[in-house]
Amino acid sequence: MTDIIQLLPDHVANQIAAGEVVQRPASVVKELLENAIDADATEIKLIIKNAGKTLVQVIDNGKGMSITDARLSFERHATSKIKSAEDLFQLNTKGFRGEALASIAAIAHVELKTKRAEDELGTAIEIEGSAVKSQEVSVTPTGTSVAVKNLFFNIPARRNFLKSDTVELRHITDEFHRVALAHPNIAFAFYHNGSDLFNVPNENYRQRVVHIFGTKTNEKLVPVEEETEVLKISGFVGKPEFSKKTKSEQFFFVNQRFIKSPYLNHAINAAFEGLLKDGYHPSYFLNLTVDPKTIDINIHPTKTEIKFDDEHTLYAILRSAVKHSLGQFNIAPVLDFEHQSSFNTPYNYKDKTASTPAIEVDSHFNPFSEDKIEGKQTMVQRTRFKPASTASWESLYVGLESKGNNSQKDFSQVTFESDSKNEPIFKDSSIESSKTTFQLQQKYIVSTLKSGMLIIDQNRAHQRILYENFLKHITIKEATSQQLLFPLQLHFTPNETKIIGDLKSDLEHTGFVFSELSENEITITGVPVGVPESEVSIILEQLISDVENDVPDANFSATDLLAKSMAKSLAIKNGQSLNSTEQEHMVNSLFACKEPNVSPTNRPTFVTMKVDDIEKKFM
Ligand code: ADP
Ligand code: MG
Repeated sequence: MTDIIQLLPDHVANQIAAGEVVQRPASVVKELLENAIDADATEIKLIIKNAGKTLVQVIDNGKGMSITDARLSFERHATSKIKSAEDLFQLNTKGFRGEALASIAAIAHVELKTKRAEDELGTAIEIEGSAVKSQEVSVTPTGTSVAVKNLFFNIPARRNFLKSDTVELRHITDEFHRVALAHPNIAFAFYHNGSDLFNVPNENYRQRVVHIFGTKTNEKLVPVEEETEVLKISGFVGKPEFSKKTKSEQFFFVNQRFIKSPYLNHAINAAFEGLLKDGYHPSYFLNLTVDPKTIDINIHPTKTEIKFDDEHTLYAILRSAVKHSLGQFNIAPVLDFEHQSSFNTPYNYKDKTASTPAIEVDSHFNPFSEDKIEGKQTMVQRTRFKPASTASWESLYVGLESKGNNSQKDFSQVTFESDSKNEPIFKDSSIESSKTTFQLQQKYIVSTLKSGMLIIDQNRAHQRILYENFLKHITIKEATSQQLLFPLQLHFTPNETKIIGDLKSDLEHTGFVFSELSENEITITGVPVGVPESEVSIILEQLISDVENDVPDANFSATDLLAKSMAKSLAIKNGQSLNSTEQEHMVNSLFACKEPNVSPTNRPTFVTMKVDDIEKKFM
């Protein structure tokens, strides 16, 4: 038989990749604006025709490209931003995959003009469907202009899939707002069909927020400023009386990148607790700065997600900072730091004059130093789980039958159902003793094997456990539900309630009970066993954002997404300490999974280190 595998020609590969990067004109806007920012532009112009279906053009005064770079920039995986895999952990740029221009050029007519400051003449290139039509020397100002015309001209199905101009323009405007908000020090202009929608100079953050959301916004902004060793927060929250029925004014930026985080959103809601009318949402425009090493930016081009090493601590700091600001500006009637006032808040109050005598501050207290780690956990746990005294992470094992002490399995009894080829380490060696686990940096569970050492990522492992459990319940269509004392009313946009509606029956199979699903409101009367009521809104918001972010393709499965999403929301976070019973339970439950090796998103859940390898290190 002849061999049958072929390499796809580049233009086909590019078209396939383009489907991931470019979903609609707004995706092009995002990529081009980000490139302009990465090129250190101080002025950026966005020109749109017919909601981007005819033209998306971005002109910047950034550093431009040489002739060679101009041509190379359209090659897939051509990037000036990373050179080695290590750079991925130190990202300071928006782009890094070198896919955007190649993808866009595969499905549109693209005209690039660019010139560096040191060159007298620039370069002009025209590309249509990955084919270079012309390249010439050109007289052009320093900087870069990329014009993208006739998007999806060669993929009619995608073109027909585009929504009305109003909808597409709204997506573009949203994208533009996010970028403009994240970069107040850059001047932006935005034109649609020849009219000037937006024109702002380089300005401070308050001015930028006001420019985008209107002059009335000014009086409602309350500054939030905080700096700790792990996190710097700056920006504004809206005064409670200006809260809105929609979530249109909620913005988190992490290292100047817009992100969605239902979990951190929850932290803000917690800070506003008792201050908002039912069904109203706080406004916030918050910039978080963290060490790039401590975050994991999802490699998927269209996602606005990010993974923090220690979400738990960020949650606590954010909540306290917002609460403090609301208190300082006399918005919150009383600061309720009263429980355990001796313990203090998780961040330093330096530069703050505490006007309310109820707050006791020990300025020497540093919750992040190693010797205070105990205290930090107590605080952090209380923040996350309301009834801290009894809340155990084990309760998150929804309906898992191994729950409880009597079913603690001895590790050696655990049978591995998965393909034994995946499990060579466990096949020929049993675990020596189930007592020998310990936790490292509140992130890893370390256990011994006969042949060496096992290091488990607690968050990923728990995601795997929950994921398989949810899948099982959804598939066999039976789950135990726990009835809520009072029905829980949650407010969403019509679009969001539709997403929930579409997944209703799957959600019910995990244990949710809905009594009402209207355009803007969802009433829940039952939740899966073990899911705390306070987590319900996080789960649903996470689910909505996952569905919105997921590019529906042939492999799209709503059930799978639901199980993944719920597992992600409910899995214990890094930064949470586990006692030895909990650690053992985690190890046992992980290896009772069908596929213990990887998380639901296909990342390793554990690594092993063999004694042989350790011995080699001592040679
Ligand atoms: P990435 O941004 O992931 O590197 P892109 O496909 O968006 O990939 O861009 C490829 C390369 O082209 C960039 O790494 C950069 O060197 C160059 N480039 C793209 N746009 C601009 C621009 N506006 N100004 C200067 N250089 C640019
Ligand atoms: Mg880019």
